[in-house]
Amino acid sequence: MKPSGAYSSLPSELFSILLDNTREILLLINRDLELVLFNKLAFQTAKELIKKDIRQGMTILDLADEDKRDWMRLLYEEVFTGREKIIRYPVRNLVFKVSMIPVSGIGVVDYVLISCENVTYEEEAVEHIRNKQFLLQQAERIAGLGSWEWDIPSGTVLWSDEFYRIMDFEPGETPATRELGFSSVHPEDVVRAEQTLQNTLDTGEPYETELRLITRKGRMKYMLCQGVVTRDKNGRLSKLIGTFLDITAKKQLEESIYNQNQRFKTLIEKSADLILQVNDERLITYCSPASEKMLGYLPSDLEGKRLKTLAWPEDLERLQQELVELISNSSEPKVTEYRCMKKDGTFLWVEATVSNHLGVPGINSIVINQRDIHHRKEAEELLKELNEQLQARAKELTLSNTELEKFAYIASHDLQEPLRMVSSFLGLLKKKYNESLDDKGRQYIDMAVDGSDRMKMLINDLLDYSRVGREREVPGLVDLNEIVEIVKETFSKKIQETGATIHAGMLPVIRARKIHMTQLLQNLVGNALKYRSDEPPVIRIGAAQENDTWIINVEDNGIGIPEKFSGEVFNIFQRLHGRSDFEGTGIGLAICKKIVEVYGGTISVSPAKQGGSIFSFTIPVQKETDA
Ligand code: ADP
Repeated sequence: MKPSGAYSSLPSELFSILLDNTREILLLINRDLELVLFNKLAFQTAKELIKKDIRQGMTILDLADEDKRDWMRLLYEEVFTGREKIIRYPVRNLVFKVSMIPVSGIGVVDYVLISCENVTYEEEAVEHIRNKQFLLQQAERIAGLGSWEWDIPSGTVLWSDEFYRIMDFEPGETPATRELGFSSVHPEDVVRAEQTLQNTLDTGEPYETELRLITRKGRMKYMLCQGVVTRDKNGRLSKLIGTFLDITAKKQLEESIYNQNQRFKTLIEKSADLILQVNDERLITYCSPASEKMLGYLPSDLEGKRLKTLAWPEDLERLQQELVELISNSSEPKVTEYRCMKKDGTFLWVEATVSNHLGVPGINSIVINQRDIHHRKEAEELLKELNEQLQARAKELTLSNTELEKFAYIASHDLQEPLRMVSSFLGLLKKKYNESLDDKGRQYIDMAVDGSDRMKMLINDLLDYSRVGREREVPGLVDLNEIVEIVKETFSKKIQETGATIHAGMLPVIRARKIHMTQLLQNLVGNALKYRSDEPPVIRIGAAQENDTWIINVEDNGIGIPEKFSGEVFNIFQRLHGRSDFEGTGIGLAICKKIVEVYGGTISVSPAKQGGSIFSFTIPVQKETDA
């Protein structure tokens, strides 16, 4: 559309066509700021953008927003002084670059040509690029990715900000050069780095390699380096563009994982235990080298084989059941013992810890850790066998002991009757024929009476002995101090006759049968009085505790017992003296021994320092819980 009257004063029709075909908005104003000329684009833009029909005679200020008019007037005053101005002028959502060019006549500026160019899109594009660059920088920073560019014809090198940081420089701190880049490569990697670049320059192929850098601060960093070449329109190499990705943390992690793996591998491989990994199909996926020493198999013999290859047939079913249970029910490791089949067809007893790690990422297997317990198992078996034998023997012994005791009891009981008969007939014989017998005959009868009395005593002693441990009385608390008093009472006459003294210390209360303790102390004190020396007897009774045991001593100053007989005196009917020296049957100490053994104790005798004997017996300490 041609604005009415717009071209009335145009110098020529051609000029008007030219103006309308330019891509710029053109306006010409006079010193009164009135529009004297404008092109079609100016007219259209004003109509669309500010909803105004521009026409000749309007001032340029009429096209501006009210608040900008004063500023604009001043601006044009300046342009009319001959100074060209270019401003950025936003209108609505568009931006214009406005050039104000003074048009001079002779010396004075008569007109100003205003040319407006819509730069909205260029500005947006610049902003867009700026944003992209910012994003790129941030991305480089976050990723630890630095980039560089080498312009091949000019030799100039550019480093990104992040590349500077990777090298421990502030961005732009020092000029980037190829030499500085190479001098930062680890000495052992320099040759490879140069070869890699050269190869890319020769072939035009991109590269990817790992290098170590030594930064300005002397830190070593691992880098993943990639690069490509670009070519100009004539196909000549123009640029080499590369990136450096800092993979130090990843490398260190890899290294520590590798080291850790090596450690575990060494531990597993050096372990005397055999470690097996089994998958969900019961196939052995890993076998440690201990298999060779333990079972004679190389790991490669077993890997890929079924687990049951290693089970001794008799244990197979139980093991399969245990495994099914472990897999379905338990996450806790299970410890089990079984016989493992060796390569030579024999078996080895092993103890295994079986843990279910099926479904656990990274391991997904059943782990079996088995150790050799063959010797222990054999010893256990032997021990079991011996135990069984021992138990059978103990049973036999108890039986024969009981039998023996029964026999002694019955025999002595039954012997009493005929013995009584012998004694009474001997009595009658002596009474009736005493006068008619000569001395010899009377002496024989006396000896026969004496013999039968003695036999009676022996039988009674035997009966006493066999009764020990068969008493009806139940064990109770027995105060040994009280027992000593009873014994003193029993021997009061003898004590008086011999001028004996009995010193008793504080004695314990024990759990036993009163009758036993009385018999025991009575026998020992009785012997001390009987086997006295020329001195009046001095008897000391004392007690000492050793852990859970009381040791009771009865010491005398009598004739003493030669050490070589210290064991024999406790045998039944064993005497060291004839009857003419000391009365007795030799049963007393045997009864003492039997009593002490009923309580799990022992009895012994040793010589006293000043002559005489010390009898010691042990008896368990009465515990709180016993009460
Ligand atoms: P008995 O006194 O009836 O002979 P014992 O069994 O009590 O039987 O003693 C066995 C033997 O041990 C005694 O014959 C005696 O020789 C010796 N004997 C026992 N007690 C003492 C003692 N206190 N001093 C010396 N000898 C003793």
